[in-house]
Amino acid sequence: MMHGLWSCPSCGRTSANRNQSHTCRPLGDLSAHFTGKDEAVRETFDGILEVVRDLGPVEVLPEKPASPSTPA
Ligand SMILES: [Zn+2]
Repeated sequence: MMHGLWSCPSCGRTSANRNQSHTCRPLGDLSAHFTGKDEAVRETFDGILEVVRDLGPVEVLPEKPASPSTPA
């Protein structure tokens, strides 16, 4: 058990310094990124995710919205 490692009770993020400021952003609100967007965008994203998941374990971090600039 490591000492001195503080984990935020709100978002579970760990930090060596509990006074270090961070933005609480719990994982799991990925759908919020697609609010107001075309449904096709979400479907495309889900399709990509399926392919990626076939390749191996993947962790989706909602705080970094993917904006792929794929040529049409
Ligand atoms: Zn937090």
